[in-house]
Amino acid sequence: MLVSILCLVLMRRNRTERYRKFLKLMLAVLFGLFFDILGALSIEHAAELSHFTLMLTNSLYFWFAAFAGLAYLDYAEAFVGEVTKRERRMYIVNAVLMLLYTMVLILNVKTGWIFSIENNLYVHGPLHFICYIPSTYYIFYGIIYALLHYKSLNARELIPLSGVLFIAAGTLIQAFAAPYTLLTFFLGSIAVLVILLFMETPDYASLQETLEQLDTARIEVQKAQRVKTEFLSSISREIKTPMNTVLGMDELILRESKDEYITGYARDIATAGRVLMDTLNKILDYADIETGKLDIVNAPYKVQTLVKDVYKTCLFRADEKGLKFTCDVGNLVPDILVGDVVRLRQIMINLIGNGIKYTTSGTVSMYVGSNELDPKNVMLEIRVSDTGIGIKEEEMSRIFGTFDRAGDVLSRSGEGVGLGLSIVSKLTDMMNGEVKVESNYGKGSVFTVYIPQKIAEESDLVDNGPDQGVDREVQTSGPLFKAPNARVLIVDDNDINRVLEAMLLKETEVQIAEVNGGSEMLRELARTSYDVVLLDHIMPDMDGIEALKRAKQIERVKNTGTSFIAITANALSGAREEYLRQGFDEFVSKPVNGKHLEEAVMSCLDKNLIVH
Ligand code: ADP
Repeated sequence: MLVSILCLVLMRRNRTERYRKFLKLMLAVLFGLFFDILGALSIEHAAELSHFTLMLTNSLYFWFAAFAGLAYLDYAEAFVGEVTKRERRMYIVNAVLMLLYTMVLILNVKTGWIFSIENNLYVHGPLHFICYIPSTYYIFYGIIYALLHYKSLNARELIPLSGVLFIAAGTLIQAFAAPYTLLTFFLGSIAVLVILLFMETPDYASLQETLEQLDTARIEVQKAQRVKTEFLSSISREIKTPMNTVLGMDELILRESKDEYITGYARDIATAGRVLMDTLNKILDYADIETGKLDIVNAPYKVQTLVKDVYKTCLFRADEKGLKFTCDVGNLVPDILVGDVVRLRQIMINLIGNGIKYTTSGTVSMYVGSNELDPKNVMLEIRVSDTGIGIKEEEMSRIFGTFDRAGDVLSRSGEGVGLGLSIVSKLTDMMNGEVKVESNYGKGSVFTVYIPQKIAEESDLVDNGPDQGVDREVQTSGPLFKAPNARVLIVDDNDINRVLEAMLLKETEVQIAEVNGGSEMLRELARTSYDVVLLDHIMPDMDGIEALKRAKQIERVKNTGTSFIAITANALSGAREEYLRQGFDEFVSKPVNGKHLEEAVMSCLDKNLIVH
């Protein structure tokens, strides 16, 4: 015990409260052992010693037996670290018990109720059993306390803490079966040494400290990651708002200007703006994945329609670079599958986007195939191949990391922030799939994504949901329709956006009115009938969703069947579904594209109002 205590005192760096309480326990046991032996020896040599010395050594032995029990209880509480209010009240009860017991031992010198020395012999008194009560009580209390808090302990801690039963067992055996053995402190010291070896050695303590530091560091890192993600996403949102205006105005220039030079510049602005918006949207998607805001929503979808839509979206960029671009669907792929079409689309567009980005000449192609897993499920395979710069073997493992880009001079010169593949791999993970990449440096790459999908059954098709509007043909010039009798109300707090939307609808000849907030819109809707309301989402006076809810209560709105189109900078995939769920009839994301706006308005207008 002495060596262990020395080791503890000399080697332990961090002197916590728990450490101090354990030291107290060890010292109590050490002194207990000491007086146990001293008491036994004193009785053997009773003839040579005074009565007082004999009484003192044996009384101290009994006192330390109780005190060691109390020290153990104290240590267990400090170790577990959770003390309820009731348990705290018990401190006082336990301390009072110790005080009473001390007084009983002092009284015993006179009364001999517990023990006495008669004719140089040690004799048990009539109340001898009292001296076993406090220590047994404290030990059982400590063990029960540890067991009650077992959830905050692991086996390594719980077993030694409960192993203190040794002391209780030793005390009871000594009390009732073998009064002349020195079992109490012998077993007690073993129990305490077991605790020392399992939980309190300096090595273990420093390991624990290191683990705690690691844990704190991990929490800090997570916090920093969260702050980074939030910062990125709020910056992106901030940049998107003025960008919407820039791109919107640019579209107006493209529509209105007849000057070749001017439209050439405007096209360049549109191309650069599109790249920037792409990046911003990726950051926002990434932020949503990181913060767990992004859910996988499964619904039936047509594979052909999805692929056609992706093809149309990407064709323009491939054409711009003079690349051959193809998209094919395998014969065996079921027509309708159940999955998250928005995320699948995102994966396809990101992979094709990279293919186009990292290929200077040749072909980028996507093939969608499937393998039957069982009669109800298939493994969807999305394979995007290109004849681009390829990826070096040693870069392969890095490219899926966030913000990691292959350290290639060729690729570095291109646009991108290293988020596309990280989004692809996270989305694929969320859908229980996997991504594979094969590449031949200098020759091209093949990215293959495997995602399990359910084959749609009859019952799934009842509510097929909106068809993503993917089959709609987008005309390239002239308005989609004309409706001079239609009344459209534009609600936006931003003057430029209102002007922009009005200009974009100019060719359709609809009658346009504008208001700059939700409250004004409610007043206007109560006064005049409108066919369509273009309602901005984020407005200072009243949020667009709240404004919609209130507008739907207005009699005039109910009678005319006014349609509401959400206009929002929230271009995140899945946003459309969310707005429709909130009660909007259509959704247009900013930067507002003229054709999309016309399409949305047309789909909301009564057929009688459309003249062309
Ligand atoms: P970004 O394209 O924005 O840099 P990504 O996460 O999409 O970020 O891609 C990470 C890196 O992987 C890219 O920087 C590029 O080096 C490499 N990479 C991705 N796709 C291809 C591809 N089709 N061909 C060659 N390299 C690619």
